[in-house]
Amino acid sequence: MTDADSHTATPTSDGHGPEPYLSIVVPVYNEQAAIRPFLQEMETALDKLDARVEYVFIDDGSTDATVLEVQACMSDGPQIQLLVLSRNFGKDAALAAGLAHARGRAAIPIDVDLQDSPAVIPEMVQKWRDGAKIVNARRADRTTDSWFKRVSAQLYYKLFNAVADHPIPENVGDFRLIDRQVIDILNTMSEKARFNKDLFSWVGFDSAEVTFERQPRHHGSTKWSFWKLWNFGLDGLFGASTAPLRLWSYLGFCFAMASFIYAGYVLARTMIFGVDTPGYASTIVIILFFGGLNMLSVGILGEYVGRIYREVRDRPLYIVQRTHHSDKEV
Ligand code: UDP
Ligand code: MG
Repeated sequence: MTDADSHTATPTSDGHGPEPYLSIVVPVYNEQAAIRPFLQEMETALDKLDARVEYVFIDDGSTDATVLEVQACMSDGPQIQLLVLSRNFGKDAALAAGLAHARGRAAIPIDVDLQDSPAVIPEMVQKWRDGAKIVNARRADRTTDSWFKRVSAQLYYKLFNAVADHPIPENVGDFRLIDRQVIDILNTMSEKARFNKDLFSWVGFDSAEVTFERQPRHHGSTKWSFWKLWNFGLDGLFGASTAPLRLWSYLGFCFAMASFIYAGYVLARTMIFGVDTPGYASTIVIILFFGGLNMLSVGILGEYVGRIYREVRDRPLYIVQRTHHSDKEV
């Protein structure tokens, strides 16, 4: 029996047994207006799938009526688990919470704002049934994103893949299908500074790809400020690579060599032409330059020390305040 067969072989995993076949994992943060349109579109997209689907909503500390809205939708029919986190932990932690509670044979993290198109899900499921353990959804075009976001994302992917230990696929966000085997592994990875894109690519496994057109946001506004994105980007980079640390060894080596040569030159010149007192400008420039360089390297060291501190402190990645289940629970 091939592994693809195993999805349909046992009575509980054919999509009709008591266990959900597919978990749709949806982190939500102040998205009260987006919940209903999202569920409607999902129902249309999954109609043809004919399998038991559960939604795992993770309320990431919303201050609006998001929780009430999800609860209201529970009575409409879909099987829903709602995890209410104790505060805003960020999307990546919220996704980790969702994956830990998902019970399906596979899970699909998806944004609630309909920027990730639910219409491609049947195609993703098909590729999974054909044997892929991870099915990435690549954004075919990003014309709905601003020029700045597109260019900065492109540069970031290039930089990231140049230094990271494991490259991440370009233009693939968190929207992808993940097999149970991979979910179980992700659930054991407890690192605090979480960058899901890196984790998803680090685990490896056979992967496939579908493409979709990224839509404009349907309701509400983006939850990412420039500053949040900047920090997120840095976190990802420092988390996935120690190249910035290594950079200083190379830089240090180059400057040490240059200083050595320069020292030889100064020594020879002094011995041949005698002592030359002026030189304040060049001295101060060199002192300031190396002072700046030192501070920069201490800063980068600090990035890693800070991360070590967070890991050693070992606080939980997220706190689930309470959970709600829809009545359709079996
Ligand atoms: N989100 C979250 N916690 C946060 C920020 C965002 O759970 O701190 C959720 C948000 O509700 C949405 C998804 O993550 O479902 C993507 O967020 P958004 O659309 O703001 O990101 P963008 O599409 O602009 O990158
Ligand atoms: Mg969005």
